[in-house]
Amino acid sequence: MAYRKRKGAGSRPKNETDKGPTLHERITQRIIDQLKAGTPPWVKPWSCDARVGMPRNYVSNRPYSGINVLLTWIAALEHGFKDTRYLTANQIIELGGSFKGEKATRIVFAKEHTRNPGEEGEETFFVQRLYNVFNAEQVSGPALEPEDPPLPFNARVPEVEAFIAAQGVPITHGGDRAFYSPSRDAIVVPHPGNFSSPEGYYAVVLHELAHASEHPSRLNCPGGPRDTPGYWFNEIRAELASAMLCAEFGLPECAHHAGYLGHYIELLEGDPKAIFTAARQASQAATFLSEQAQRAPTLAAAA
Ligand SMILES: [Zn+2]
Repeated sequence: MAYRKRKGAGSRPKNETDKGPTLHERITQRIIDQLKAGTPPWVKPWSCDARVGMPRNYVSNRPYSGINVLLTWIAALEHGFKDTRYLTANQIIELGGSFKGEKATRIVFAKEHTRNPGEEGEETFFVQRLYNVFNAEQVSGPALEPEDPPLPFNARVPEVEAFIAAQGVPITHGGDRAFYSPSRDAIVVPHPGNFSSPEGYYAVVLHELAHASEHPSRLNCPGGPRDTPGYWFNEIRAELASAMLCAEFGLPECAHHAGYLGHYIELLEGDPKAIFTAARQASQAATFLSEQAQRAPTLAAAA
C-alpha cells in the first residue's frame, strides 16, 4: 500500500518527524484507500459465504476490539477467510502447527512500559506495536477445532428483539427516515414492513441505538452540529458499533450511509488517530449495549 504524504496529516509525535509514516498513519491510509474504493471494511466484511461473528483469538476465544476488528475484517475481505479465528505465531507453534508461506495479518497490541521502575517518578505508559496473527485457515499441521456454525439469523430474532427492548430507548415507527433524537432520547424509524428485509430493519435500529449510547446518561459522547468533524466522527462510531453488533448477531448487513464516505475520508485525512478512537469507542458502545441487555430482566428470563 502506497503512503501519500498529505498536508495536515498532523499529530505525529515530535520524535518521529523524520521516520516516515507512523503506525497510525499507515493504518489510517489503508482504511482511506478502502473508503476511496467505496468499500468501507465494516460494510459487509463477511461475504455471503463467510461466517458471521466477531473476529477472535482461537486459543482464548476473546473477541478482538477497536482497530483490530477492522484490521481482521480487511484481512478477511482480502483473503476470503471464512473462519473468524486468529492465532499468534507462538500459539500455532505450541499447537504443533505451521504457518509457513502464509501472509500474516498485522494487528495492534498495546505493550505496557514502566519508566523509572521502583523509583520516584515511576510512570507506566503504553506503546502501540504491530504484531502478526494468522487466520485459522492458514494453519497447516494438526487439524484445528472446527468453528461452530453460526445460528441462522431467524433463530436469533427473539434475542435481538429482547436486546433492543432492554435498552429502554423509546422507538416510534413511522415516516421515511430513521434517526435518533438526542433531545428526546428517542428513536424514530420507518415501519418494519417498509424495509426490504427484517434484517435491514434490525440493522438500522442497532445503528440508532449506537447513537443513543452517545447520550450524557450513557457513554456521554457528544458529537456536534451536522457538517462538523464531531458529527462525522460519531457517524463512523455508530457505523462501526452497529457493524460489530450485526456481526455478533449474524445479521448479513449493517446500516451504512454511502453518501457520507467523502466526509469520512476528510476526517481521517485530517487526523490519523480518528479511526483508532472511533473504533475503540465503537467497541465500548457495543459492550455497553450488550451489558445493558444482559442486566435486563426480560432477556435474563428468556435465557
Ligand atoms: Zn447515524
